[in-house]
Order: sequence, then C-alpha cells, then structure tokens
Amino acid sequence: MKKLNFPAVLCVMLFATAASAQQSIDSMLDREIAQLVSTYKMLHAAPELSHHEEKTSAFFAAQLRALGFTVTERVGKYERADLIGYGVVAVMKNGDGPTVWVRTDLDALPVEEKTGLPYASTVKAKNDAGQDVSVMHACGHDIHITNMIGTAKMLAAMKDQWHGTLVLLGQPAEETVTGARAVLADGLYTRFPKPDFLLALHDSPDVEAGKVTFAPGYAMASATSVDLLIRGLGGHGSKPEATKDPVVIAAQTILALQTIISRENSPLDPAVVTIGSIHGGTKRNIIPDEVVLQLTIRTYKEEVRQHILTSIERIAKGIAAAAGVPDDRAPILKVIENEGAPSLYNDPQLTERITNAIGRAIGADNVVKSPPLMASEDFGRLSLDHQIPSVMFWLGAIEPSRVAASRKSGKPLPSLHSSLFEPLPEPTLRTGIKAMTTAVMELMKK
Ligand SMILES: [Zn+2]
Ligand SMILES: [Zn+2]
Repeated sequence: MKKLNFPAVLCVMLFATAASAQQSIDSMLDREIAQLVSTYKMLHAAPELSHHEEKTSAFFAAQLRALGFTVTERVGKYERADLIGYGVVAVMKNGDGPTVWVRTDLDALPVEEKTGLPYASTVKAKNDAGQDVSVMHACGHDIHITNMIGTAKMLAAMKDQWHGTLVLLGQPAEETVTGARAVLADGLYTRFPKPDFLLALHDSPDVEAGKVTFAPGYAMASATSVDLLIRGLGGHGSKPEATKDPVVIAAQTILALQTIISRENSPLDPAVVTIGSIHGGTKRNIIPDEVVLQLTIRTYKEEVRQHILTSIERIAKGIAAAAGVPDDRAPILKVIENEGAPSLYNDPQLTERITNAIGRAIGADNVVKSPPLMASEDFGRLSLDHQIPSVMFWLGAIEPSRVAASRKSGKPLPSLHSSLFEPLPEPTLRTGIKAMTTAVMELMKK
C-alpha cells in the first residue's frame, strides 16, 4: 500500500457512493499507473513458459502478500509428476459476504518476439521436450498479471467499501490448457473458500485500448484433441492388389468427415472439425501400414461434442470396412484428455450485471457486445460445468489509430500468439484495472 495518501483516501471513503468510489479508483490509478506500467514492462521482458512460471509466480505472490493477502504458492498438481504447479492463491477475508474469485494466467509462449520494443523479450528457455526455444508473452498474460496486481491495490485500499472474501488466483499453464485442471486437482475449492462468482479478463488484439467487449452465454468453444489411427495392410507400391492402402482410406475419411458438420449437425449449434495434421508413409513405392490424423474439435454444447466423436469413429470404421480392412485392423480413435478444454459459458445474468457496472465506470459506449469465438481457454473449467456463475470479458489492448487503420485497409492486426502482438500498456491497464475493480465492487459492495 505504499504511496497511499491516507487522509485523502479516508475523506473519499466517508462519502462512499458509486461515484466517489470511481473517483477514488481514478486518483489511486493516477498515483499507481507509472509503477504498474514498469511492472508490466519488467514482466514482459522476463516471460516464462507454461509449467515453468517459477519467478513470475514468486513475484506475483510477493506483491499480493505486501498488500495484506494471505498467499499460498505452488498450488497445482499435474499428471506428469516431474512438473511443478506454480499456481498462486491469495485470499483476503473481509467479513460476511460473497466469495468472489478473480483469475489471471501466468504463462508465456514459445515465440520469438519481433516487435522491436525497448522492453521486448530476448529470453530463451528449454521447453518440456528439452529443446531451446525463444519465449514471449505473445498472449498478453503479462497484461493480465499486472492488471490483477493493480486491481488488488485498489481493492485493498477500498476495503471498508466491500465485504466478503476476495480470492485472487494466479493460474499456471493456460497455454497448454493443463493449469486449470492442475489447480483443481490440488484441492482448489476445498483448501480455499469456494467461489460464488468467478471473474477473468483477456486482452484483445483487435479492440482499442479504452474499450471492453463481452459475449454473454457461450463465449468460447470446448477444444477436444483427437488422434485417428487409420490402419491398412502395407506392401509394394507396384502391387496394390495385395494391400489395403491406408493413404487412400485416409483421403476418403478426411472428405467424409466434412459431412459431420454439414449434414449431421444442426446449423444452430456451432461446431468445427479440423484435421490439422496427416502423417503416413516413408517412400513413394511403399504402401504404408498406417496413417495418423490429428484433429481438433470445437463445440459449445457437450452433447454436440459427444455426437461428433461418435460420428468420427462410425465414419472412419465404415470407410475402412468398405475398403476391406479386417476388423482387427479397424481405425482407432483416441481422445487426448489432457489437451482439452471445456467451453466457456458467461453466465448471462452475471454478465449483464457486471458489464452494466463497468459501463457506468468507463462509459457505456466503451462496453460493447462481441460475437463468441470458436477458440478455447481453460478458464471455463474453473466453473465446474457452469455450476459457478462466471464471466470472462475482453480488454481492448491496441493503439486506437492502429485499429482504425486496420479497419480502413482491411489488413488484420497481429493476432494473439503473433511475434508482433503489441498491447499499449498504459491505457490498457487503466481500463482493465478500473473495469475489474468495478466488477468486483459490484458483487461485494456494502
Ligand atoms: Zn494464448
Ligand atoms: Zn491467453
């Protein structure tokens, strides 16, 4: 709470209306923003890969501890026993009232930064496979961490204006969608007070800094990773009559799988089946024994996901059988469980409540409804199948003139995960901290 002007804060608190709460956030932000921007730049220059967020989590924990939170580090248990869970849970109890959780992710990506910014990352590290890779906060999780620290500062200073239990979660390994599962497996909701509400934000690569966008209801899709092993009977390329060619069977299967979305699925239930990888064979004159397809499936509804998985298996087996492949060489469908994420469902009532409040804080014109995405996030897992009302909103992060130029020219801006992704720190953090502080206050105010 350094640099807080206590008489000024006290004075504001005596007249604690919504308007004065906003003034108090604004004046605290004026005092804190320079420090927060330098925190952001420091984090940006020191990214850590998923499963390796050691220094980031320690820094985050220390910041929250200094603000009076009770902090637990190293929360998270992965299936791989050699990986350490670097989750951070910070709790501030403030009398009776709702338990509100706010989540940030902590990890960065194996991307070589090419923004040319003075604080650009030059970090190299070893990935889980032991290869040397460049590392960059190319998804803006450094914005999220800094935003959380700023929000924590505001809420700690405004403690007499809210009641209940505030829990801040630093979640590791979002990019590998293993982190939410790992913190839950480590007893997240039994070791710490279970949330009544869950909030998060994510920076947006094509929305102006100063704005917030949101999608009520299904906002992001579930992701399911599937390997499909198509087996045939290999042999000489000159003698097809003695083989069952898995390359041809794979080709037919790929085309037939396109009919799941176009002919079996309701157009009112968005879904994607993408075959992103196909591998088979070693040489032009050898018919191989097998071909491996790697698929990603995106859906909002669980029943649609189940239907698609059943259809893939049925179609693959049917085509193999039609080609004369014996039953004991039938295709094998394998769902890679630890690579998946459930859909993200923004509770419509909670979304309306907090976006209305954010609109009053940053201007209703700056809070805009946006379409849902078929991309995925593991934040949804923390809601335990939509049991806990939760909302993730998007935080505009780009220089407004760049967004305007992109809309005019039709040339897209660098996306999340791009080596050129470049959030504009100060206005993004100001808006994000104000928005998240307002959202929490809406749920916890006295
Ligand atoms: Zn990402
Ligand atoms: Zn992200």
